[in-house]
Amino acid sequence: MSESLRKAVFLDRDGVLNVDLGYTYKSSDLKLVPSMVDGLKILAQSGYALVMITNQSGVARGLFTLAHVEDFHKELLRQIRLEIPGFDFDAVMICPHHPEGAVPEFSIDCQCRKPGIQLVTDAQKILSLDLSKSWLVGDKSSDVDCALNAGMRAIQVTRGGKQYSQSKKAFALVPTLLDAAGIIINNSL
Ligand SMILES: [Mg+2]
Ligand SMILES: [Zn+2]
Repeated sequence: MSESLRKAVFLDRDGVLNVDLGYTYKSSDLKLVPSMVDGLKILAQSGYALVMITNQSGVARGLFTLAHVEDFHKELLRQIRLEIPGFDFDAVMICPHHPEGAVPEFSIDCQCRKPGIQLVTDAQKILSLDLSKSWLVGDKSSDVDCALNAGMRAIQVTRGGKQYSQSKKAFALVPTLLDAAGIIINNSL
C-alpha cells in the first residue's frame, strides 16, 4: 500500500518563498527570495508534492484579511509562473488563528497553528502522503518543531529576510530553498 503514497515537501511561506518583512500581506510588497524558484523547480521535477503551509496570525490580529492572503498568493503564483510556466502548489494550507487575536472569529487556540500539525495531517489525507518520507522547509524553530511533531524531517533556511534562532533539531541549516532542495534530493528515502 505504501508505494501508492506520495512524498511531499511542505514549504513555509514568509522567509522561504517570499522575503519576510514582518506580517507581509500587500501584493505590492511581494518579493521572491532569490534563487528560491530554482529550488522549487528541482523539487517539482523530482516528483515531490509541494504544499505551502503558512501561519497568518495577522488575520486574527486584525492587521489584514483572508482576502489579502488570497490576493498575495495569486501574486506569488504569478511571479513564480514567470519562471516556471503553469506551476501550482498541490495544496495551500493557511492558519489564520491566534489565541490572543483581535478578531473574535479567528482568536482561538487552534490545532493548526505551527508547531501544531493539523494542516499537515489535513494535507496528508487530501494528497495521500507518506509523512515519514516528507520534509518541511521553514525559517523558524516552530516550523522545525511542526515537522518533527508530524514525523517529518526539517530544513531551516536563513536568507529569507528575518533572522530567527537556529533550531538544533533541524536536519540542516542552509541559506535558501535552492540549498534545501539539494539536501532533500540527496537524502530521499
Ligand atoms: Mg516563515
Ligand atoms: Zn489555526
